[in-house]
Amino acid sequence: MSRFMSEKFASLTPYTPGEQPKNMQYVKLNTNESPFPPSQTAQTLASAAAKELQLYPDPECRTLTQAVADTLGVDFSQVLLTNGSDEILNFAFMAYCDENTPAVFPNITYGFYSVFAELNRVPFVEVPLKPDFTVDVDTLCKTHGTVFLANPNAPTGIELAQSEICRILESDPNRIVVVDEAYVDFGAQSAVALLERYPNLLVTQTFSKSRSMAGARLGFGVGSADLICDLNTIKYSTNPYNINRMTMAAGLGTLQDAEYTAQNCRTVMETRAETMAQLAALGFEMTESKANFIFARHPKLDGERTYLALKEKGILVRHFTKPEISAYNRITVGTREQMDLLLAALAQILEETV
Ligand code: PMP
Repeated sequence: MSRFMSEKFASLTPYTPGEQPKNMQYVKLNTNESPFPPSQTAQTLASAAAKELQLYPDPECRTLTQAVADTLGVDFSQVLLTNGSDEILNFAFMAYCDENTPAVFPNITYGFYSVFAELNRVPFVEVPLKPDFTVDVDTLCKTHGTVFLANPNAPTGIELAQSEICRILESDPNRIVVVDEAYVDFGAQSAVALLERYPNLLVTQTFSKSRSMAGARLGFGVGSADLICDLNTIKYSTNPYNINRMTMAAGLGTLQDAEYTAQNCRTVMETRAETMAQLAALGFEMTESKANFIFARHPKLDGERTYLALKEKGILVRHFTKPEISAYNRITVGTREQMDLLLAALAQILEETV
């Protein structure tokens, strides 16, 4: 850090993205990207948009915002597109948390929430997950502040039932509940249908996972028109042109190819089920994942050593050092071929260990 860095950020620990080593060709199962390329229409529209990059993009993103609204069955005024869903999450921290309104989230969840809280200098309360890694809704309902819930949760993949989300929303109608649905398309139920009943609900989603567009950076928030108005105030005060032309075009193409996305999601879910069955046969224990990743541990293997042994064999998975989950690894569901390589490597590691 230079001596010029503002004191307010001196102790900020930034988010650590999944590693992207370039020293060799890895089987990359560590950042929950889609194993499938973006839709053909997305690619075609993005290259056409490249011809107009001398012009600023539409700050209101009208065409794509309307297309997202139509897909979700909500009004144009209820949607705000952002540069990945990380950006809408940060906007929500900026808009709905302050020294009197802490952020509240489970102790095991998406690691960026605590970073956003620190960046925005707002206090945060971590509610411990129950021993089975499910959210402790009773305790959460008794807290005060803005709730951030990844559903399915990361890195466990466990889905919180919609009735439980309603209970949190009803625990205090004067607090905002943000439901982060980055992984919702792999078998979980979306809370978008609850928006009509709960003006304190904000749902965020992303094009990075099910829609194969992690490299384009596109996400969105959906909520009441009033909430979207708040978040637009933040957007126009930070980066009015937050979605570039190529990303906007690719997003539109992806929505036009909805069946391609749906088929990819079905394939990921099938591969997840097959891989989990094979991991179970090797003795692995796993959570019930509704996401495009598997959260697994083995009674005879150390979590970190398994991660390192896989890396040595050219396979990247994600290991977290928090003691509650350090026995586990989070494995992105890739192609069938990638999963076969993973299973073979794990079988070998087990043989070498026991
Ligand atoms: N929420 C969760 C739970 C995530 O795991 C991620 C991906 N790292 C995001 C949000 C943000 O994804 P993106 O910014 O690519 O939309």
